[in-house]
Amino acid sequence: MIPPGETIGILGGGQLGRMLAMAAAQLGYRCHIFAPEADAIAAEVAADFTCADWHDAAALARFAAACAVITYEFENVPTAPLAALDGHKLVPHPRALECAQDRLAEKRFVAALGGLTAPFAAVEDAATLGVALARIGAPGILKTRRDGYDGKGQWRIASPAGARALVLPARPLIYEGFVDFLAEFSVILCRGDDGDIRFWESPQNLHEHGILARSLVPAPAAVLAQRDEGRALARKVAEALDYKGVLTLEFFATTAGPVFNEMAPRVHNSGHWTIEGALTSQFENHIRAICGLPLGDCALAAKGCEMRNLIGDTAANWAEILADPANHLHLYGKAAARPGRKMGHVTRLTLG
Ligand code: AMP
Repeated sequence: MIPPGETIGILGGGQLGRMLAMAAAQLGYRCHIFAPEADAIAAEVAADFTCADWHDAAALARFAAACAVITYEFENVPTAPLAALDGHKLVPHPRALECAQDRLAEKRFVAALGGLTAPFAAVEDAATLGVALARIGAPGILKTRRDGYDGKGQWRIASPAGARALVLPARPLIYEGFVDFLAEFSVILCRGDDGDIRFWESPQNLHEHGILARSLVPAPAAVLAQRDEGRALARKVAEALDYKGVLTLEFFATTAGPVFNEMAPRVHNSGHWTIEGALTSQFENHIRAICGLPLGDCALAAKGCEMRNLIGDTAANWAEILADPANHLHLYGKAAARPGRKMGHVTRLTLG
């Protein structure tokens, strides 16, 4: 057990790290952020900040020496330099990162555990894309295997002719058949140091342009009917990885059952509603798990809630948002608004 007062290291300096650091502070921990960007918004609410490249081995070693435990808020942290860190200090174990960083490895891993996925095939060039199309058909989505997020690094393919017109990036890719889904949802769990697993209620997630726009709890009946099957798979994933902390699996609810899309070995945007909407937030339980503390209750604290992301420039509406007392506003302190950039979120609770 890591007692309050110790320092928790966080790899990554974005809003997830910021909200983790705020939850850690509530429990009396100090946080030390490691991130390559000088304007890391997590560092504004943390005790210490190392601004260095992921491959700066000396800076990573100094950072590790200063922390009792290290976690990550960013799943594209390069894993090779992490091998030099004290393995016991990095929680969740980097095997979860390795699996989740590669869409192909992730889908194979989950399929081997019995999970349903969209039909998929590895693509390297026009010839292998042709083979994938012949087997899977169109429509489908071509995605970079690594480093894609929020719909970046994705190309929708409506027909084989459309695929031939594409200039393929020189990177490993995956082609997935298009899933005709009823709804999208996520399973968010926390696994404690002792193997105790707790689930939050599954939100329905609504995406716009590949970016999460809203999460709704409780989800509609089509999702609730598939939630437990999604949970059973998520439990298997967590146990197979001997995972500690918050783990998120994203699913499509379909007429054939829940189809796994991707996983995130970290706290997740679709769990932001848990700050006000659950008895214990995803951020607090992640901190509890990595420090070896007992987990808090994940039950709903309201009849329902809706989390809405503030994307691009909309954060300027803060006064209007706060004029409604049911709204809880979270602004991340990002200086420059850009199209598609997550500037904050609003959670609205339905009580009684
Ligand atoms: P991803 O980055 O894989 O989470 O994709 C972002 C969003 O694109 C998803 O949340 C879906 O809305 C959509 N999407 C991704 N893959 C597929 C698929 N195989 N079939 C249908 N929609 C998809």
